[in-house]
Amino acid sequence: MKQLTTKLFAAALTLAPATLFAQSDTATTEKKEAKKADQEVAIEANDQMQFNKKAFEIKAGDTIQLTLKHVGKLPKIAMGHNLVILQKGTNLAGWASKAMTAAATDYIPVDEASKKAVIAKTKVLGGGETDSITFSIKEAGEYQYLCSFPGHFAIMQGKITVK
Ligand code: ZN
Repeated sequence: MKQLTTKLFAAALTLAPATLFAQSDTATTEKKEAKKADQEVAIEANDQMQFNKKAFEIKAGDTIQLTLKHVGKLPKIAMGHNLVILQKGTNLAGWASKAMTAAATDYIPVDEASKKAVIAKTKVLGGGETDSITFSIKEAGEYQYLCSFPGHFAIMQGKITVK
C-alpha cells in the first residue's frame, strides 16, 4: 500500500509541469478575451462610392474595433476604399489632396505632418474584402474619417463624436 502511494505521488509530480503549463495557457486565453473591444463598429463601402455610416459616437478612452467591408464587386484599382481617421482639426481637403498622389503608400501621404494626423487606418480594399482595426481616442471632440482613394473623400467621409 505504501509503495502504491509513493508511485502515485511520483506520477503526480511528473504530471505537475504539464498541468501548470495547461493552466497558464488558459490564463492567456482569458486575458485575450478580457481585452475585447469596448465597442464594435461596422461600416460598409460600396461600388457607388459610399460609406453606409456617416457618423457614429464613441466614449473617450474606449477600445473600438472598427470593421470596414467593401460590399461591392469592383476591384481595388477601380473602386478601392479605405477608412482613415484623422486628428481633430486636420484640414480634410488638404490632407486628402496629398493622399491622392500617394498611391505607393496606399494613399496615405508620407510627409511627417500628414502621417501624424492619422489616428487609425484600414488597408485599401477591393470588392468583397474586409479589414478590421482597433483604436482608441482619449480626447473628447469631433473627428473626421474619410476614404483617401483618389476622388472619394468628398462623398466618402464621416464624423466620429467622442464623448
Ligand atoms: Zn473609397
